[in-house]
Amino acid sequence: MGECKEYDLVIIGAGAAGMTAAVLAAGSSLRVALVEKNSQCGRKLLLTGKGRCNITNTRPWEELSPHIHPDAAFFRPAFMSFSNTDTVAMFQSLGLPVTVERGMRVFPQSGRSSDVRDALLRRIVSSDNIDLEYNSEVVSIDRTSCGLTLSVMRTEERISAYSLRAAAVIIATGGLSYPATGSTGDGYRLAGRLGHTVTPTMPSLTALVPEKYNFALIGLTLRNVSLSLLVDGGVVQTEFGELTFTDGGLEGALGFRVSRRAVKALTEGKKVEAVIDLKPAVPAAELKARVEREYRPGLGLDRFLERFLPLQAVRPFIEAAPSLTVQNLPVRLKNWRMPIKGFVDYRRAVVTAGGVSLKEISRKTMESKLVPGLYFAGEVMDLDADTGGYNLQIAFSTAAAAVRSVINRSTLR
Ligand SMILES: Cc1cc2nc3c(=O)[nH]c(=O)nc-3n(C[C@H](O)[C@H](O)[C@H](O)COP(=O)(O)OP(=O)(O)OC[C@H]3O[C@@H](n4cnc5c(N)ncnc54)[C@H](O)[C@@H]3O)c2cc1C
Repeated sequence: MGECKEYDLVIIGAGAAGMTAAVLAAGSSLRVALVEKNSQCGRKLLLTGKGRCNITNTRPWEELSPHIHPDAAFFRPAFMSFSNTDTVAMFQSLGLPVTVERGMRVFPQSGRSSDVRDALLRRIVSSDNIDLEYNSEVVSIDRTSCGLTLSVMRTEERISAYSLRAAAVIIATGGLSYPATGSTGDGYRLAGRLGHTVTPTMPSLTALVPEKYNFALIGLTLRNVSLSLLVDGGVVQTEFGELTFTDGGLEGALGFRVSRRAVKALTEGKKVEAVIDLKPAVPAAELKARVEREYRPGLGLDRFLERFLPLQAVRPFIEAAPSLTVQNLPVRLKNWRMPIKGFVDYRRAVVTAGGVSLKEISRKTMESKLVPGLYFAGEVMDLDADTGGYNLQIAFSTAAAAVRSVINRSTLR
């Protein structure tokens, strides 16, 4: 083992949460190391919002909290002390103007996620009290009499290179989704070795794969439809909006919104079905009357269906319902059933559900209840959210709670 450097705070992972923690510690009296295993920081941030980065969502807590899983109450104190308004203010103070779009989603005005990453990075590298270490993977954390000691490996050499000692450590290593960005579950192992429980993880905000998936649907987006998720025959969730068929399966806002429950049910071996109502705004009786009014004998069913469906959906719809007739058409249009056989794994899932158990973390400070001085921030915890900017807000708020607690402790000493 080589040299041992001493810090007040070591932040593991320079993703959304780790970089925010560093930004909020910039200029404080803390000596901080931000340790990142990649050769650059915020790789996942660059991918967010299809390259535009949906930073946060301006909804008030009452409307935002239903989008947080599995325990919004845990997140509340962190959100109240560093809210979506604080996120916007932070980026504005970093020289990044933002704009609010449909669904109260906040994006950088430039429309570039790289500007979000760079705004955070500029503040970090211009701060005298922060050392940013790239290509450095934390492989273990040990409790010692003088704090926490971290073993760090230089990623290009694959040998233990040096150690770090600090009174406080924030684990901000992310989850398991998009592992190519550096989120490979290291935080679960680090926390687990220190006695923390890691609740089972699963991909969320991911594509659901229908049985006998009709590839002719790929590329189609159905607008203003509703999707009901059935588990073991019972409806557990119904959502309204846009459904996109991709090479993975059912995606888009609707696919993603039901994916968390669907993946959980599938991993528990339950029967999962998606039922699409192609005309949710039209009551069944009205739809029946319209079909009876407009159908002319001799008109092929496929031609007639073009009045109700985008052309690309017509053939797959007919093929999915071989006994389709004009009589049962209204019922079928409101019940396009797709049994779901699986889901797309972490390689393309937007977030990881599950993680370091919230029961062992203080909701006010994000400090471990088991290991004094150990903190968590971001997706490494058993905290995730729907699409809409909520996942990044989790990263920002929890990072703020952790770093403020470390600063408060240091000023008390
Ligand atoms: C394609 C895609 C689009 C998304 N779009 C949005 C969006 O628009 N809005 C939104 O709110 N959310 C979005 N998300 C989710 C959001 O990006 C994540 O929830 C968020 O980045 C989590 O932040 P984090 O800091 O906890 O983890 P990450 O951003 O994953 O950062 C973790 C960092 O830790 C580093 N690391 C890991 N292990 C170690 C180790 N042992 N030593 C040193 N460093 C380590 C990693 O290399 C990485 O840099 C998107 C996700 C994806 C995949």
